Amino acid sequence: MQIGRRVFSLSVGALALSACMPGGPGQPQVARPDPALEPGLRPQPNAAYDAWVAAFRDRAASRGISQATLDSAFRGQGFLPGVIERDRNQTEFRRSLEDYLAIVAPDDKIVFGRRAYASQRSALNAVEARYGVPADILASIWGLESYFGTKKGKIPVISATSTLAWEGRRGRFFESNLMDALRILQTGDAVPSQLVGSWAGAMGHTQLIPNAYQQHAVDFDGDGKRDIWSANPIDAFATTARFLTNAGWRKGLNWGQEVILPQGFSPSLLGRRSKRAVSAWRDMGVRGARGAALAGSSAGIIAPMGVGRPAFLVTHNFDMILRYNPSENYGLGVGYMAGRLAGAGPLVGQFGRDATGLTLEDRKALQRGLSRAGFDAGTPDGVIGKKTIAAIEAYQRAQGLGVTGQPSRALLDRLG
Ligand code: CA
Repeated sequence: MQIGRRVFSLSVGALALSACMPGGPGQPQVARPDPALEPGLRPQPNAAYDAWVAAFRDRAASRGISQATLDSAFRGQGFLPGVIERDRNQTEFRRSLEDYLAIVAPDDKIVFGRRAYASQRSALNAVEARYGVPADILASIWGLESYFGTKKGKIPVISATSTLAWEGRRGRFFESNLMDALRILQTGDAVPSQLVGSWAGAMGHTQLIPNAYQQHAVDFDGDGKRDIWSANPIDAFATTARFLTNAGWRKGLNWGQEVILPQGFSPSLLGRRSKRAVSAWRDMGVRGARGAALAGSSAGIIAPMGVGRPAFLVTHNFDMILRYNPSENYGLGVGYMAGRLAGAGPLVGQFGRDATGLTLEDRKALQRGLSRAGFDAGTPDGVIGKKTIAAIEAYQRAQGLGVTGQPSRALLDRLG
């Protein structure tokens, strides 16, 4: 954990959590499990976990957490097997850049996001003026982390972090976050019902884990609370901007841009750490997509799906976005969405055909064909996930075909 902050935006999205605005006046002051959550995300009996919590409470008390805080924090909390499952299956959420962008930045989300960006423009501009992090980058992070404040996660943070601390794979990390979550309650920054978020304890508009909150949270609007949870996202914007500034964000430097590589560009030159003078890239024939000038003084070039697919010049500030989440796809998602929010069009580079010979449009057509045939393939987004695979398998079974669950041209033609 480089800086004590990991983002699990895909996990939040994959749970299809709906909007949640906890903590308003008159709401219960206990973080109750939402009845809409799957059973594994509601507390289950576990004596070993309970014993761990009892010992942890002693450790927390010895570090200054009051009994009153502990009692209110742990009321209604418990062991959540579902968060362990998610922690172990993170690799399943690893996606190609093409799939990732289709998931986190589809066209309807960009339309929604442009309205959300406009509605928060003055707040974002004020935060940019203070910290030097561009408004569109902050709005983009907001979009990737919580779908512009509408999907902040509903899993109780005390239950999630205590379950993962007990389970132990990253026990120390999650115990530290559990302790910081208790400090958030003890100082009155939040009430227990507000402490809900992702399976890993990331909370609020920009999905900060308790460690990151304690290191960087800002009361930007001066109301006396560092509030990343309620309807007004301005403190969350400022906290994220401060996080990036503390990490080393350079004011006035763009994250990067899409580029067109010259014929014969060697893949050995790729890598965000293989930085060169931008003038050297220009001399090699690297051009900005849509004729844009190459910006910055020093940058690397990345092409996550290989030379011939979309490629990007990335600067020091791209590395700073990766301090928020270490995935290059995440960093590119933030940069891409920021551009789209600011009015730019889609990528110029083409992803082309996947390993099964299908393009994104082919895969969408396959999903629509399956659903038309009565096998629900989910949203026709071109991403072959569990639901699409299950639909293919069910279709193959029903048709007496070999059951592979694999998309293919033959299958697409058959569904035609
Ligand atoms: Ca505030």
